[in-house]
Amino acid sequence: MDDPTQDFKTVTELINASHLSTNSTIGAPTHIPIHGLPLVPSINLSAAYEFSSIDSLSQYYSAKTASVRYGRDSSQLVLQLETYISAMHGGYPCCLFQSGMAAINACIQVASKGRSTILTIGACYRKTLGLIEKKSAEIGASHIHLENFEEIHLLTLQKQDPLILIESPSNPFLKIVDIRRLKEIFPDSFLILDATLQGLLNDKVGLYNFADLTVASCTKYIGGHNDLLAGYVVASLPGIYQDIWETRSSCGGIIDNLSAYLLLRSLRTYDIRIATQLRNTELVLDFLSTNPLVEHIYYPGRFDNSHENEVFSDLYYHGGSLVTFKVSDAVSLEASIGTLLSTKMAPSFGSVDTLIEIPAYMSHWGKSKKELQTLGLDHRTVRLSVGLEPSDYIIKDLYRLLRHDSC
Ligand SMILES: *Cc1c(COP(=O)(O)O)cnc(C)c1O
Repeated sequence: MDDPTQDFKTVTELINASHLSTNSTIGAPTHIPIHGLPLVPSINLSAAYEFSSIDSLSQYYSAKTASVRYGRDSSQLVLQLETYISAMHGGYPCCLFQSGMAAINACIQVASKGRSTILTIGACYRKTLGLIEKKSAEIGASHIHLENFEEIHLLTLQKQDPLILIESPSNPFLKIVDIRRLKEIFPDSFLILDATLQGLLNDKVGLYNFADLTVASCTKYIGGHNDLLAGYVVASLPGIYQDIWETRSSCGGIIDNLSAYLLLRSLRTYDIRIATQLRNTELVLDFLSTNPLVEHIYYPGRFDNSHENEVFSDLYYHGGSLVTFKVSDAVSLEASIGTLLSTKMAPSFGSVDTLIEIPAYMSHWGKSKKELQTLGLDHRTVRLSVGLEPSDYIIKDLYRLLRHDSC
């Protein structure tokens, strides 16, 4: 298959490819000897664009998704970013949104039309499940949720065309849901893949070819500095891009130009951020795996997830910088988590900052013991997102966290 993604191994390579910068607001063509060009694009906050004639307006309408007229539809910075994200996904068209949830909401709006069943498999973002519950009640569809892929043989939906939404790797246990198998089992389904935990250019087989819509939050790895919210949708099913674009245009939800600027800035350091995060993550895994107070470690394809090693190595180049682990009863996490120095207790992940959370107290605050149990969670389960700090800062904080505190 002629897959343009194969041309690029890194994000830096891709954003420096001159043929992708034709929409660029960065500067003039290089054959004009101009000095003093800015190295980074201007942040233009204009909500509207001027037309010099009815003719130029008519040109706009003949290619409106690739041009600019009004800020709720597009802008030059947004078009430039969409060109890059699209080039990372086989050239399939892309729409950027103001958050991951805005992107997921647009996908659900478009893809749920006329469906009688919506299926979710494995751990899913809580707000996504909430949206799906609401949508299925609204359209009279049934929502089936499977905690484990293995339960799929119990279903009798194989001949139907359900809407299926999965996240891979999933959060917080970093399990892989193999979308290729889903496509085999449900050839007529509509598949949405939330690839937030995968990061950019980390896919060996073109998973977007198996999904109808690939969606991700750019707030995590891609933005990487905890200073922007954004999300993208890549539409590989022919014709569906127009629906996503129109939904964004009518409901609002496009990324704002300041965030688009920040996201463009973030792409420039994506590769070195990920490389350092992965190096630090290996040191964290070494530390945790030799500490007797750590009872389980969840990382894609390794430790407690090593039974998924084969599918993990088939699909992805790396496992990312999230690590989830369970500590022994002898550790008093509630006391020790407040003693960390550089590591912050906060939601979100994938950024330059090392962030820690106990999901039972953070994203699942107030859930009953039984509800937590269904999700495999308890108050000894920790999720760590490894950042760019000197590795000894991170490891020393882990020492503090795991202090033997039973006395
Ligand atoms: C964070 C996240 C979202 C939501 O993204 P926002 O940018 O916070 O709206 C959706 N899915 C997954 C897997 C996430 O981690």
